[in-house]
Amino acid sequence: MKILLKRLVKMSNIENKTDVILIGAGIMSATLGTILKELMPDANIKVFEKLGKPGEESSNEWNNAGTGHAALCELNYTVEKADGTIDVSKAIKINEQFQVSMQFWSYLVKNNLIQNPHDFITQLPHMSLVQGEENVSFLRKRFEALSMNPLFAGMEFSDDPEKLKEWIPLIMQDRENNEPIAATKIDTGTDVNFGALTRMLFEHLQNRDVEVNYYHQVKNMKRSDDNSWELKVKNLNNGTVELHRAKFVFIGGGGGSLHLLQKSGIKESKQIGGFPVSGIFMVCKNPKIVEQHHAKVYGKAKVGAPPMSVPHLDTRFIDNKKSLLFGPFAGFSPKFLKTGSIFDLITSVKPNNLFTMLAAGAKNLSLTKYLIQQVMLSKEQRMEELREFIPNAKSEDWELIVAGQRVQVIKDTEEGGKGTLQFGTEVITSEDGSIAALLGASPGASTAVNVMLDVITRCFPDHMIEWESKLKEMIPSYGESLMENPELLREVHQSTAQTLELVEKQLVVS
Ligand SMILES: Cc1cc2nc3c(=O)[nH]c(=O)nc-3n(C[C@H](O)[C@H](O)[C@H](O)COP(=O)(O)OP(=O)(O)OC[C@H]3O[C@@H](n4cnc5c(N)ncnc54)[C@H](O)[C@@H]3O)c2cc1C
Repeated sequence: MKILLKRLVKMSNIENKTDVILIGAGIMSATLGTILKELMPDANIKVFEKLGKPGEESSNEWNNAGTGHAALCELNYTVEKADGTIDVSKAIKINEQFQVSMQFWSYLVKNNLIQNPHDFITQLPHMSLVQGEENVSFLRKRFEALSMNPLFAGMEFSDDPEKLKEWIPLIMQDRENNEPIAATKIDTGTDVNFGALTRMLFEHLQNRDVEVNYYHQVKNMKRSDDNSWELKVKNLNNGTVELHRAKFVFIGGGGGSLHLLQKSGIKESKQIGGFPVSGIFMVCKNPKIVEQHHAKVYGKAKVGAPPMSVPHLDTRFIDNKKSLLFGPFAGFSPKFLKTGSIFDLITSVKPNNLFTMLAAGAKNLSLTKYLIQQVMLSKEQRMEELREFIPNAKSEDWELIVAGQRVQVIKDTEEGGKGTLQFGTEVITSEDGSIAALLGASPGASTAVNVMLDVITRCFPDHMIEWESKLKEMIPSYGESLMENPELLREVHQSTAQTLELVEKQLVVS
């Protein structure tokens, strides 16, 4: 009787068939859903999110640094080669990807699909700051290599302390250290409130008849006979289990994506592991201090520190209020999501990735040690790190906040061998393109549009020609390199700056 009942429930639920299911209501699902709705207005799209609102995990404004990563200030995107020259290829790639995001956001505002761009994006100078002769020489070479490129037009360099006092008074004040110091500055950087943007995109999707189900956790999935996907979803409001079917599934669960990808059983999910790195920031809301700083200032990562823990002091614009953010301090927690479980890491180890994970563990003992040391830091020790930026920072002005979890991908690669820790993002798709997952978190939300275009290209190859003109309408540089097309770059900068209400200075392009 019980079995028959179960089968009947299952049969009625199987009627829950749709074209697309997006798992997770973060910036990635928001972006993919929005692009797909523009390309296929009649598509039926459903979203399942285990929390009660969109953008509550890594995409939330307090869980990330809100840097519009365009490689304007992040020193880890420009590496010094053995011959002393600077490799700028990664910086160019990331900058181009950010321009794609800016164009898409601009399209959404221009077409009234979202409003009030100043609620999610603000222009803010991006700066790199270094100390010591060797670092100053590196920064000068980096500046020379980048400032020639139209993507980085407007970048300035100075090693004059008087100039730096104008640029970053809070950092230069009471600085006793007489070591050489230098900075670069570019006014066209941005602070992006990815939480606000995620919420705006979900509001837009719901207005376009996308069914967004909060408090619904995807528990399992399997392929059906007709090659669609059957998802087992727990309704956390009443504890019932629902079955939903879709032709295409996107796993946009952030840190939760690895477990879901493993449940899909696709062969592309094998030999992949994840290693969680948590982030802690210090926040200052004292207006007297906040008013003295107006930039995102990125330093150099400490020796042994992973690239995502490059220290930076940022002005943030959240809910129309300015604050300062310093960090991130890395840390270790076995959870894959802030709201995850302490068993996340251990349950992600499967027979197919056991050796990959063991190899990664053996290779990254120093990283593990570094993360444990970071967790153990007292507030006063963290203040000491902050004082390298603001020499007279006072403990009572700063409070600690726990940011999001970043699950770094571990996989076997040709260059790194078994169990190599990756610091970028990885799109994993099944051979037939019926399912895609996003793993990793860097450069992260800033490049969401480019990453989701990659998902679309890989999963909907037969539609790409038909969609090309719409894609060009949404992203005028689609399929082109802006670096090689300065005229288009100038147009794109002008129109995005105007639509996104960024100030005049954004228009400077050589
Ligand atoms: C400390 C830190 C600093 C960062 N700084 C920056 C920055 O300055 N600039 C930048 O561009 N990026 C930054 N990032 C990266 C950026 O935040 C992420 O890349 C981005 O937010 C990821 O978005 P997402 O949609 O993939 O994941 P999330 O925003 O984490 O969303 C995933 C959603 O899926 C839900 N979910 C998970 N599992 C399930 C399930 N089984 N069923 C239903 N729902 C589920 C979760 O509840 C969550 O809401 C930073 C990240 C961190 C942690």
